[in-house]
Amino acid sequence: MKSERVCGGCTACCKTHPVLSIDKPISKWCKDCIIGKGCGIYEKRPSECADFKCQWLFGNYEGKDRPDHTKIVIDSYILDTIDEKVIALYEVSEGALGRPFAQNITTSITRQDNILVLHIHLGAKRAVLYLPPNRILTKEQKRKLAEDSFEVINNI
Ligand code: SF4
Ligand code: SF4
Repeated sequence: MKSERVCGGCTACCKTHPVLSIDKPISKWCKDCIIGKGCGIYEKRPSECADFKCQWLFGNYEGKDRPDHTKIVIDSYILDTIDEKVIALYEVSEGALGRPFAQNITTSITRQDNILVLHIHLGAKRAVLYLPPNRILTKEQKRKLAEDSFEVINNI
């Protein structure tokens, strides 16, 4: 069994993830975050925050790959636009999605696990969906992705 992990000094998702109940936008530090320390309103934090666990906290990836070190927060969910499971990589600082950590896991998840990988660039300026080899999207999925301004990349 994997050992229990704790966030420790990581506060990366307090930047990357939106929190609707407090109007916290995607890719901007939460006003209540004490960066590198924790939540300034811990006892009263919204349930979205209390319930959230990134994939690293779940015990995936190496211990050294905590999101504040890799500058990538990894999440997993069903992407409503196409109703498919994705592994989503959120950039904590500019350029992190272009570095080997993000590139290597994108290749391994798409090729070995046959799962779609979504890159959310800093500021949500770009959302790029990487497809596993041989994955064909339906016409309707392509239409919806285009409508929501996703870029789609095949066979990396
Ligand atoms: S990104 Fe993961 S490890 Fe970091 S604070 Fe959020 S849940 Fe914890
Ligand atoms: S309320 Fe606290 S846990 Fe939630 S995003 Fe803000 S600082 Fe992070």
